[in-house]
Amino acid sequence: MKLAFYSLTSCEGCLTTLITKLGPDIEGLWNNFDIDYFKLVREPVGGSKFPKADIAFVEGAVVTNLDREHLQEIRKNSRFVVAIGTCASTGNIAYTASRNIKLGKKALSVLEVREAEPLSSVIALDYELNGCPVNADEFVDGLLRLVNGLEPIQPDFSVCYQCKLAGNACLLDKKQVCLGPIAMGGCDAACTSVGSPCLACRGPYIEADLKAYFKTLENKGLKVEDAKPLLQMFMGKKIKEVLKE
Ligand code: SF4
Ligand code: SF4
Ligand code: SF4
Repeated sequence: MKLAFYSLTSCEGCLTTLITKLGPDIEGLWNNFDIDYFKLVREPVGGSKFPKADIAFVEGAVVTNLDREHLQEIRKNSRFVVAIGTCASTGNIAYTASRNIKLGKKALSVLEVREAEPLSSVIALDYELNGCPVNADEFVDGLLRLVNGLEPIQPDFSVCYQCKLAGNACLLDKKQVCLGPIAMGGCDAACTSVGSPCLACRGPYIEADLKAYFKTLENKGLKVEDAKPLLQMFMGKKIKEVLKE
């Protein structure tokens, strides 16, 4: 089975995380699959920039015209395309920045910059793996499921679910704004378990209810206005889904 790993506009932290977090397991990846391209590690094989692949993993948001063209080529040459990381699945901070930073028309045309978008705004995606950076265990699980003809599983619970299972005291009761109730779970409540509020780095929980969340904040004596800038950080274009726009 042929795999390829691509990078659009990003910090390349997701691919770096896979290399570092897989540790010795990366040998399994190398020994059991044909890796036809891995940005940072292996040049594309066979002379094509976008070799034919069974599964293409793509990190980064679509920010430039070149990103868009490359992504379309990747889609044409791959049986499955999987977004890895929150830049790829929501547009992440690049989406918010590209909407808020006022670049002159000339600068825009020189840089060929457009509004940053998640991959799903440009091509049909087969699956999204969230996280900033992506979670290596979820990557392995998703890969094995695809290889075995199964649908990868998207967490259908919020961060609060795992936070409560971990027995943590709720930070909202300590007057700290936490996005856990509207954030996609699956990270084992990594931040709240060490006392830091959740910033929803995995994007929105599928059943996120912003109205109910704001009501909860008010009931806890917190200000909705304090939560709004946090919502802009990682949710990218998916903020529209949360806002039900
Ligand atoms: S999701 Fe986070 S770690 Fe991954 S490329 Fe984007 S900014 Fe970097
Ligand atoms: S600390 Fe955050 S994630 Fe944990 S239960 Fe409270 S709101 Fe939910
Ligand atoms: S607790 Fe929130 S911010 Fe922290 S890793 Fe999980 S989803 Fe990301």
